[in-house]
Amino acid sequence: MNTPTTGTGIRTGAQYLEGLRDDRDVWLRGERVRDVTTHPTLCRGAHTLARFMDRQFDPAYQDRITFEQDGRRYAMSFLLPTSAADVRRRGDAFYEWATWSNGMFGRTPDYKNASVTAFAGSAEFLAQGRPEFADNMRAFYRYVRDNDRVLTHTLVNPTFSHAQSREGKYDEKVALHIVRETDAGIVVRGARLLATLGPHADEIEVFPSTLLTASEENLPFAFAFAIPTATPGVRMICRDSYDHDKSTFDAPLAARFEEMDAVVVFNDVLVPWERVFMYREPLLCNRAFAETNAVIHMMHQVVCGKLAKAEFVVGLLCAMAKATGKDRDMNVKAQIAEAMWAAETIRAFRYQAEGEAHADQYGHYMPLRRPLDTSRNLFPRLYPRLVELIQLLGSSSLMATPCEADFGGDIAVDVERYFQTENLASRDRIALFRLAHDVAVSGFGNRQVLYERFFFGPQNVMASIYYDLYDKDAQLARVEALLADG
Ligand SMILES: Cc1cc2nc3c(=O)[nH]c(=O)nc-3n(C[C@H](O)[C@H](O)[C@H](O)COP(=O)(O)OP(=O)(O)OC[C@H]3O[C@@H](n4cnc5c(N)ncnc54)[C@H](O)[C@@H]3O)c2cc1C
Repeated sequence: MNTPTTGTGIRTGAQYLEGLRDDRDVWLRGERVRDVTTHPTLCRGAHTLARFMDRQFDPAYQDRITFEQDGRRYAMSFLLPTSAADVRRRGDAFYEWATWSNGMFGRTPDYKNASVTAFAGSAEFLAQGRPEFADNMRAFYRYVRDNDRVLTHTLVNPTFSHAQSREGKYDEKVALHIVRETDAGIVVRGARLLATLGPHADEIEVFPSTLLTASEENLPFAFAFAIPTATPGVRMICRDSYDHDKSTFDAPLAARFEEMDAVVVFNDVLVPWERVFMYREPLLCNRAFAETNAVIHMMHQVVCGKLAKAEFVVGLLCAMAKATGKDRDMNVKAQIAEAMWAAETIRAFRYQAEGEAHADQYGHYMPLRRPLDTSRNLFPRLYPRLVELIQLLGSSSLMATPCEADFGGDIAVDVERYFQTENLASRDRIALFRLAHDVAVSGFGNRQVLYERFFFGPQNVMASIYYDLYDKDAQLARVEALLADG
């Protein structure tokens, strides 16, 4: 499946959209979606991503977001860093991509590219399962890079019983599992949560993220593979859409950045052996993201994206305060300063991680883990507060938001008059607060909050992992030294 690497590196938006017009089995609002590039509530997200991909050819961006190797140009996220400077170059590219949506299109392809690149650079880890699995990963990386494929991933099995999942077990009624093995590959059945960008992706990576106990009964749940989205038997069941076909004035974010989430169902899907990376190895699965450093490179993309997002919220709060002259009020300034601290904290994490980039055990370079880890634990707590600050500052202005159509109808005179502020004409004020509404009140905005809360998993689970990894010895020694100092 991997072998014919006919691609020449970066793709245009038109090539990307053409690739989505296949037999993918996507369901939304009770109907099968015939074409995700023309479907009324799915098409605008796809076209936004297509415009982003076009920038890879734009001289204004190209040098920052792509690199050249052996006469071909690839997305920067496929660069395997061999120096601290490479790590910074990648960070700049991640950040650049994120600014285009101000972090609101969270699952740009660079996120998964960073993961695949890390797995390819550490493929010998996978050879511990079977030697050919390492080759499979290297070939998959080349295929994805050379064809600029857009990936999603599904890492989490649906919970059937919390008691069962706390014991590290899964239930075959719902969880994805191996049903048989053939000469051609493995056959899998079950469901996985949750493929953000799934309907707009070319390929799905199916990796394990939650810890598996190494029991015989868990073997059928322990695997990693990747397959094209249009593979027979793969079905995507979308949540309802937040793109309600409104104008970009009325829904400035939802009209542009709807990245759909879908539960993925696998109805006896054949996965060819050349796309299998781990198989019936629970302990190897548990170690994979950490020991390949994939999680570190993914966190690097994430910290850059969250920086762009936090900066945007700062800008939005400042614009809201300025509209009515509230920006002269000490208390309002203090409120907005809290958002500034959040942005500057994330910036500090990014720069520390990049500034202390170092060689890894595979001879490549990676950013420092601890600031990235701290950021991924903190941002899920910071973002809901940023949204709360917009609500507190916006108050009724978030509701005094008539639609674009109201400027052209019988009430136009009233709308032009009664919505103006000291510093903004009615139209500009309404546009600004509709944007704030889309961040802090709308369905689109609330989905963003949920997305941030659960980005890397449940917060208590993440915090407990952070605690375990934190090197506490020096701090404990100081406490013990003080107590011992008679
Ligand atoms: C908008 C959005 C987009 C997403 N996109 C993707 C994606 O693209 N790919 C992907 O793979 N996943 C994605 N996810 C899924 C995400 O990874 C999961 O939501 C997350 O890992 C939590 O799993 P869960 O939803 O099953 O919640 P649960 O595991 O049911 O956790 C919910 C709550 O239960 C409690 N809990 C859970 N486990 C424990 C425990 N061991 N001990 C104590 N308490 C516990 C915690 O209070 C936790 O907050 C997405 C989720 C959202 C909301």
